[in-house]
Amino acid sequence: MKIAIVGGGISGLALGYLLKEGAPNADVVIYEELSRPGGKIWTERHGGYLLEGGVNGFLSNRPKTLELAAALNLPPLRSSDKARKRYVYSNGTLNLIPEGVLDFIKSDLLSIGGRLRIALETVVPRTNKTDETLSEFAIRRLGRQAYETLIDPMASGIYAGDSTRLSLKSCFPKIYNLEAKYGSLIRGMLKMKWAARKTGKTVSAGPGGALTSFQDGMGALIGALAEKLGSAIVKNRGVVSIEKTAAGTHSIHFKDAPSEEADVVALACPAHAAASIVKDLDKKLSRALSEIPYPYVTVVSMAFRAEAVKSNFDGFGFLIPYKEHRKILGTLCDSSTFPGRAPEGYMLFRTMLGGARAADVAALDDGKIIDTVFSELSDIIKVIRTPEMIKIFRHERAIPQYNKGHAALLDTINQLLTAHSGLYLHGNSYTGISVNDCVEQSYSLKSAIIGKHCL
Ligand SMILES: Cc1cc2nc3c(=O)[nH]c(=O)nc-3n(C[C@H](O)[C@H](O)[C@H](O)COP(=O)(O)OP(=O)(O)OC[C@H]3O[C@@H](n4cnc5c(N)ncnc54)[C@H](O)[C@@H]3O)c2cc1C
Repeated sequence: MKIAIVGGGISGLALGYLLKEGAPNADVVIYEELSRPGGKIWTERHGGYLLEGGVNGFLSNRPKTLELAAALNLPPLRSSDKARKRYVYSNGTLNLIPEGVLDFIKSDLLSIGGRLRIALETVVPRTNKTDETLSEFAIRRLGRQAYETLIDPMASGIYAGDSTRLSLKSCFPKIYNLEAKYGSLIRGMLKMKWAARKTGKTVSAGPGGALTSFQDGMGALIGALAEKLGSAIVKNRGVVSIEKTAAGTHSIHFKDAPSEEADVVALACPAHAAASIVKDLDKKLSRALSEIPYPYVTVVSMAFRAEAVKSNFDGFGFLIPYKEHRKILGTLCDSSTFPGRAPEGYMLFRTMLGGARAADVAALDDGKIIDTVFSELSDIIKVIRTPEMIKIFRHERAIPQYNKGHAALLDTINQLLTAHSGLYLHGNSYTGISVNDCVEQSYSLKSAIIGKHCL
C-alpha cells in the first residue's frame, strides 16, 4: 500500500515517521514543495547566533512531542527560569505579567476598578452562545480593561490574530470549557486547584508547562526526522492537484514531475494549499478549506551588545496590546530563554510584525522593516546602538486563524471529507496550531490510517 503525505512540516514528517515505524510494509512518501523540510520550523546558524525563523519551542506539559523526541534520541532543552518572566507593554512601559488568577487581581497593571471587575467574574452568568469571539468573551467575563491589557495581547502573541475575530472555543478550548463546566473561570480554577492539591499536580488556565526546545534549536527535531525518513522525503515536489482513479486510488499531479499514484493521501500542507489541491476533486471542499485565513507575519532577529540595551529587560519577552498602536506585535529575548543562542556578552531578540490586524507592516521592504524594528526597540527597551546582526524571516501565509465560525466550518469540512475515502487532512489548520497539537494529531492519524486500511 502506498501512502502519500503532502507537506514536509512537522505534521507531515511526524506522521511519515510514525507510519514507517507502525506499518513497515507500507510505502510512505512525503512530497515537499520547498528545497528544505520543516515548514514553519526553520532554524539557521548565523555567526555565533542560533536563529529561529519561525517556531521557537513547545510546551513540556503535553507528552507527545517529548515522546517523539525521545524516540529520535533527541534530548530536550528546557528554557531557563528567567523565561518565566513575561512582560506586557502598557502605558509606555514594560510590566510583568502576573501568573495565575489571584496574581491578576493583585497586579497594579490594571486600575483598582479593572481589578474589581475581574473579581466580579464569579457572578457573571454563563453564556448560552455556542461560539463567541475572544473579545466578546473577555469583555463579558473580565471587563474591558483586562481584555485590552492582558487578553488581547495573548491573541497576537499566539495567533498573530485579531481578538475581535478569533473564536474563544476554537483557540482556547480550555478556557471555554472552564466557563461551560463551572460557570466561572475563577471558581473553576479554584476548584481545580483544590482537587489538584490532592494529587500534587499544578493547574493553570493558560497552556502551562515550560517552553522547551533542543540544543541546536527546533530544526534539530526536523533534522532527526529527516534522517530517519531518508529518501521517503521528496523535496522540490509541489503537488498541484489530486484526482480519484477508476480503481479507487489517487492520482497525484506535480508542478514539474510525472504524476504518481497512491492508495492513501494525507494533505499535511496548510488549508489554503489543500484547497487548491482538491479544487478539481471537490469544489465545495476546496471552497470551505479556502475560508481559513492566513495573515502575513515577518520575524526579525536582531542582536546587540548587552551594554547597548539600557533597560533591564531580560525575561522571555514582551507583548503589545493593540490599544497601544505600536508597529510591532512583540519581541522575544532568545538569548535569555535558551543557552547558546548568542555569543557571550550579546543579546538576541526576535521581533514579530504583521498578523491579522497589520499584515501590511509585515509586507514592508527589508529596509523599512529594519528601521521599524530598530526604532521600536530603541523606544521600548532602550537600545542605544545599531544592531550587530540582523536577519529577516518572512511568512507570507503564517498562522491559520480560527475565527468565530471555525468550529462550524470544520463540521462542513469533515462532512464533505466523508465522500473521499483514503483522503485525510492533517496539520495545524484545523484543531490546534501548536507543535504539540501537530504531533498529537500525527499519533492519532497514524493509528486511524493503520486501523482503517488494515496495515
Ligand atoms: C512565525 C511563527 C512562529 C511560530 N511559533 C510557534 C512556537 O513557538 N510554538 C508552537 O508550538 N507553534 C508555533 N508556530 C505554529 C507552527 O506553525 C506549528 O506549530 C507547526 O510548525 C505547523 O506545522 P505543519 O507541519 O502543520 O505546517 P507547516 O509548518 O506550515 O508545514 C506545511 C508544509 O507543507 C508544504 N507545502 C505547502 N504546499 C505544498 C504543496 N502544494 N505541495 C507540497 N508541499 C506543500 C510547505 O512548504 C510546508 O513545508 C509558529 C508559527 C509561525 C508562523
